[in-house]
Amino acid sequence: MNFDLMTDSFDREHLWHPYTSTTNPLPAYKVREASGCRITLADGTELIEGMSSWWCALHGYNHPVLNNAVEMQLKRMSHIMFGGLTHDPAIELGKILLEILPESLDHIFYADSGSVAVEVAMKMAVQYHYAKGAPERTNFVTIRSGYHGDTWNAMSVCDPVTGMHSIFGCSLPVRFFVPQPKSRFGGEWCESDILPLKDLIAKNSDNIAAMILEPVVQGAGGMWFYHPEYVRKAAELCRENGILLIFDEIATGFGRTGKLFAWEHTGVVPDIMCIGKSLTGGYMTLSAVLATDDVADTISDNYPNAFMHGPTFMGNPLACAVAKASVELLLDSGWKDNVRRIEIQLNEELAPARELPQVADVRVLGAIGVIETREPVNMEWMQRRFIEEGVWVRPFGRLVYIMPPFIIEKDDLTRLTTALVKIVSEM
Ligand code: PMP
Repeated sequence: MNFDLMTDSFDREHLWHPYTSTTNPLPAYKVREASGCRITLADGTELIEGMSSWWCALHGYNHPVLNNAVEMQLKRMSHIMFGGLTHDPAIELGKILLEILPESLDHIFYADSGSVAVEVAMKMAVQYHYAKGAPERTNFVTIRSGYHGDTWNAMSVCDPVTGMHSIFGCSLPVRFFVPQPKSRFGGEWCESDILPLKDLIAKNSDNIAAMILEPVVQGAGGMWFYHPEYVRKAAELCRENGILLIFDEIATGFGRTGKLFAWEHTGVVPDIMCIGKSLTGGYMTLSAVLATDDVADTISDNYPNAFMHGPTFMGNPLACAVAKASVELLLDSGWKDNVRRIEIQLNEELAPARELPQVADVRVLGAIGVIETREPVNMEWMQRRFIEEGVWVRPFGRLVYIMPPFIIEKDDLTRLTTALVKIVSEM
């Protein structure tokens, strides 16, 4: 295998990639095309997709139904401002979202990306309390090891250590953090998990606008699956103390955890919910923030009688059209059976990793499979080894994990899990 033929010198010298250096960048492999569950690199090497392009390409790539939705919309208009204008793609997408989300969340604010959705949700919470005559409620509480995006406020509620708060110093707002719940999803609930939150809220509730949580599955902050009872208890505490609850379902939404949305594992409906990533089936960036009547009406019925946010590409018609097509495709695809089939196979085929001395934990939920190693992985080495094995997996820290497209076939998934166990054993 000639790895030099898989990268590009212009890219290496001029293009900044996520979380890497410009002077000594990790390799970025050049992709020629992608179709179904296959990524084809510039030199013709084919890889089986294990990441769904960071949780979003649920139907795989180059899907005829989604291509058609984009092409049809492109012929009408690719973009039009949302201030003072509206269009069918935004309306039709809104209707289908209301059908699949909790009934009480019936106001939709379209935004550009997951991070922006989190910013919008946090702004909504602050403006809600301002409207209610509690302008001192400006802070937020969350659990450790969360991840909510890379923009300023989103970053402020990411885990302070893995989110690198130390680099940004006092330019970053200081939030309230409580420990990550240790009770595992599917395990015993331990009441002591909730005590730090109880204590913190008792002392600080007057300053807290909202609690933000990734319900049940923490993604990029640690790929941790925690007990739904934590969410139920936290919701109770929030309600009793006038604190809004925001669910960040940007990664967990659209079937990934085995439920259409992760809140369904808990029975708790939040006041505000963020969705994104696989909303468009991975075709382009779009997110949405959903809010209750109480949140939307309180903001709207008080000065300045409007929610103060309005991105240029809000409700982009191309993105809305493909999102509508993607959600319909998902609902018609037998996604539940697919996710269940993937979950069973991941459980079976990742289990041998538990015996490896390099491994601290193996966990599976829905179409997410995680091997947690004892030592941090050497990303460059591991990435190369995965390519040699013909799979695309991008580990970080002590986490080697996959969340494949739901359409993945049994043999392809076996190639992914086999590569995971084999390469971790070589660490
Ligand atoms: N919240 C969660 C839970 C996420 O996983 C991510 C993306 N990894 C974000 C927010 C940020 O989304 P985006 O990258 O689209 O800004």
